[in-house]
Amino acid sequence: MNILVIEDEKKVASFIKKGLEEEHYVVDVSYDGEDGLYKIEVNKYDLIILDIMLPKKNGFEVIKEIRSQKNVTPVIMLTAKDSIEGKIEGLDSGADDYLTKPFAFGELLARLRALLRREGPEKLTVLEFEDLKLDLVTHKVMRAGEQIELTNKEYSLLEYFMRNPNKILTRTMISESVWEADFDSYTNVIDVYINFLRNKIAKKSQTKLLHTVRGVGYILKAGE
Ligand code: CA
Repeated sequence: MNILVIEDEKKVASFIKKGLEEEHYVVDVSYDGEDGLYKIEVNKYDLIILDIMLPKKNGFEVIKEIRSQKNVTPVIMLTAKDSIEGKIEGLDSGADDYLTKPFAFGELLARLRALLRREGPEKLTVLEFEDLKLDLVTHKVMRAGEQIELTNKEYSLLEYFMRNPNKILTRTMISESVWEADFDSYTNVIDVYINFLRNKIAKKSQTKLLHTVRGVGYILKAGE
């Protein structure tokens, strides 16, 4: 899940970015309205967190512009303390929700999850493979009902495998989609991460799910 934060207060922006990254979201930051609009044009976001008072273009102008382009990405607006007008104008301009600054990070997370879920039942929010489940909204990973703690990279790696089950994924495919970069073919970074992940998703008594295809890559499949 990709999130854009448009907020000119660097401290607030980096607090939100850091917190969301800890929850395994991928986060971009813009410090003004124009740059925010540019990023929205060139990237695909699942949600936008938008401050109102911004340089170049304010939050109201930004949301009006994206809604006029028929972009329905959920938007949470950040409003100043007790600015009722701000809330009303924000919602009238097409925001889905608002949060009054200063806010508790937990509240931002709760609202963000609610909006990501709201996109409708037809939108897939949980990936399943055998007894393994990966929730794309909460980023919880469970196997046989037990939660598994993963780092950001391990999570992205598992998400990629679960989106492509029973398919051999080469190191090049993995590095391009999970690291967004091509590694030098001598590096063993991928192998190291696969090993971490493999051990986390299969305890000794459980069936191995991540298999090595010698000389080719890896595959997520059931059984030996
Ligand atoms: Ca501001």
